[in-house]
Amino acid sequence: MIEMQDVMKKYPNGTTAIRNLTVSIGQGEFVYVVGPSGAGKSTFIKLMYREEKATKGILKIADYDLIKIKNREVSNLRREVGVVFQDYKLLPKKTVYENVAYAMQVIGKKPREVKKRVMEVLDMVGLKHKVRVFPSELSGGEQQRVSIARAIVNTPKVLIADEPTGNLDPENSWEIMKLLERVNAQGTTIVMATHNSTIVNTIRHRVIAIENGRIIRDQAEGEYGYDD
Ligand code: ADP
Repeated sequence: MIEMQDVMKKYPNGTTAIRNLTVSIGQGEFVYVVGPSGAGKSTFIKLMYREEKATKGILKIADYDLIKIKNREVSNLRREVGVVFQDYKLLPKKTVYENVAYAMQVIGKKPREVKKRVMEVLDMVGLKHKVRVFPSELSGGEQQRVSIARAIVNTPKVLIADEPTGNLDPENSWEIMKLLERVNAQGTTIVMATHNSTIVNTIRHRVIAIENGRIIRDQAEGEYGYDD
């Protein structure tokens, strides 16, 4: 599902954030990406949804060659790769319904199909009763659930999450994890960067540890492995 070979990312200011990184992630896997601050986790993740372009190497996700695709094809890639952020990134002037529906409308789905699917995913995240509410009227946990609904509404093959529980208390963090587990159980590959050692050590999955732009550990059902 995700193939990286000798991938390198050098930012315009000269910082090399990812060095000769090779990794393969199969369909349906759940992978935690861990490592100290500044290690390259966010860059690794940004390369996967083409927020950043690799400087060198081979990078393939689903049927897309991320080195070769043109900028105008990136919206097609984003149908296959949903993204969830630490700070939710919901559109503040749109309701819960509109935030989720928008992701389908921009790719030209028919209104009837949009309505059915949006209600389906909002039901899945337990927020069907909040369709008319604005993001500012929701708790952090609820906002993250909306952002997950938005990320999965087009049934992507891969869901990328950059610190999805970073702004949440433990109770809401577990709720988000339960939801990601359900998404994964439906066959979606999940790649999640996290600093949450309790989650990583409790809900065991493959752990990829990055330090200094390189993978220094890749363990099935691994541990968090840091003190922070
Ligand atoms: P992490 O997510 O593990 O904290 P990042 O991927 O954000 O790590 O950063 C890896 C390295 O790349 C750091 O040295 C950081 O300062 C640098 N970096 C990240 N983003 C940029 C950018 N847009 N321009 C230049 N350097 C960057």
